[in-house]
Amino acid sequence: MSLQIYISGKFYPKEDAKISVYDHGLLYGDGVFEGMRSYNGKVFRLEQHLDRLWSSARAILLEIPMTRPALAKAVNDTLALNKINDGYIRLVVTRGAGSLGIDPNKTSHPQVIVIADSISLYPEEFYQNGLEIITASTIRNHPAALSPRIKSLNYLNNILAKLEGLQAGCVEALMLNHKGEVAECTGDNIFLVKDSTVQTPPLDAGILEGITRDAIIELAKKAGYNVSENALTRHDVYVADECFLTGSAAEVIPVVKVDKRPIGDGAVGPVTRDLLERFKKLVRG
Ligand code: PMP
Repeated sequence: MSLQIYISGKFYPKEDAKISVYDHGLLYGDGVFEGMRSYNGKVFRLEQHLDRLWSSARAILLEIPMTRPALAKAVNDTLALNKINDGYIRLVVTRGAGSLGIDPNKTSHPQVIVIADSISLYPEEFYQNGLEIITASTIRNHPAALSPRIKSLNYLNNILAKLEGLQAGCVEALMLNHKGEVAECTGDNIFLVKDSTVQTPPLDAGILEGITRDAIIELAKKAGYNVSENALTRHDVYVADECFLTGSAAEVIPVVKVDKRPIGDGAVGPVTRDLLERFKKLVRG
């Protein structure tokens, strides 16, 4: 049986899962989304993902055309129907079909899409040996132009930076904010470890409030590490002992080189390994 995709109340085989070419999600990237993981058949922090989805939607004045419990059920039903235990779920809400102008008032029927599938973002080798990344020259969206707190369907900012990374032979790229501070990577939050303190940029650095980021902050505090959310520069990255990235798709992945410079001794560090193990335990229950 082919994968069953949920669209606005019904399931369709993957080949027939389609929405209008007049949907403003397609025409203008006008919509919001979430990427989540399930472990042993249970979505990791589903409530937090729904909170963020509703906040993103509210920020763009998009009304999600169903209740939270109904959407939670749609997510769980999609997983169950496709018999997915350990997988990745993409939840998308588009503005709906409208006219060819950008006026959102001319659209109707926002579409709610749930795709449950598998994902392997990076080869296992990267988790063992760490990633090499570069700093992109494309800065993260200015928060006053389009807040990076909104997880919108317009990911061109991130895609431009990702392309720079790929052109340099790296699968991820570091993005700075409009002040030149470290923000995040194209699809992941960033952490540094310096003298056993776990550091990560604060929300006002213009980043997405990652749900994996939150989980790692909690785990690090519980494990007794000092955790600081403070503005970081590229200097902090270059002199850090360790670096790692977090995201629902990537989970926790070490970084061993940034801009061709080894971080610490250039190998995956002990704090990163410790937090990676703690994260695995947390998600596997
Ligand atoms: N930053 C960006 C830009 C992202 O796209 C993502 C992944 N959705 C993250 C951070 C990590 O967020 P989360 O841990 O909630 O997946």
